[in-house]
This record gives sequence, C-alpha cells and structure tokens, in this order.
Amino acid sequence: MKNLRTGDTVQVVSGNYKGARGPVIRSVPGRRQVVVKDVNVRKHHKAPTRENPEGGIVSIEAPIQASNVMLVCPKCDAPRRVRRKRDLDGTVERLCRKCGALVASS
Ligand SMILES: [Zn+2]
Repeated sequence: MKNLRTGDTVQVVSGNYKGARGPVIRSVPGRRQVVVKDVNVRKHHKAPTRENPEGGIVSIEAPIQASNVMLVCPKCDAPRRVRRKRDLDGTVERLCRKCGALVASS
C-alpha cells in the first residue's frame, strides 16, 4: 500500500479482526490490501511436494483490505491518521495528526 509499508504497526479498525494489532508483513498495493501478522489466518491443505514431502495443513495469513487498518501512534497508543513531512535531509516522516509524534519514517 501507498501509505502502509512492511514492518509498520497497524491496528484493524473494521471487519472481522477489528481491534487486532500487529506488524504489516506484506503489502499488495495493486489491490489495496495488506497482510498483517496473525490476522485473517487461513488453513491451506497442501499436497506433498519435493520441498515439503509431508504435505498436510498449513496456516498462513491472507490479505485484508488496507482501508480496514490504521497506523498505530506509539505515543497515543491508538490507531491514528498520519500526515507526511519531508525532513531536511529528504526522508519522509509520518507524523500523528493528533499529537505530532513520529509514527514511522519512509
Ligand atoms: Zn499520537
């Protein structure tokens, strides 16, 4: 996602996993989706392959809509909207709209 990057801490604010919090482990910008650790975990029944000769049931997180998550401000300890600010050295920071604390760089 444009404003959510791998490693960002987000909270789910809508949908089945509302209230869950975790790091973004993958982002799918083309579909406006993100994969959040331990959120939307699905079980897949895998046939045995050469790499995985046992096969069996594996659990893996499925993507959820990026609009259902918000970045977490570490100071407010709550999901917050952010604004972007370009630093003097050119790095873009994301700041909490409420308290102004640094939420994440990039
Ligand atoms: Zn804040």
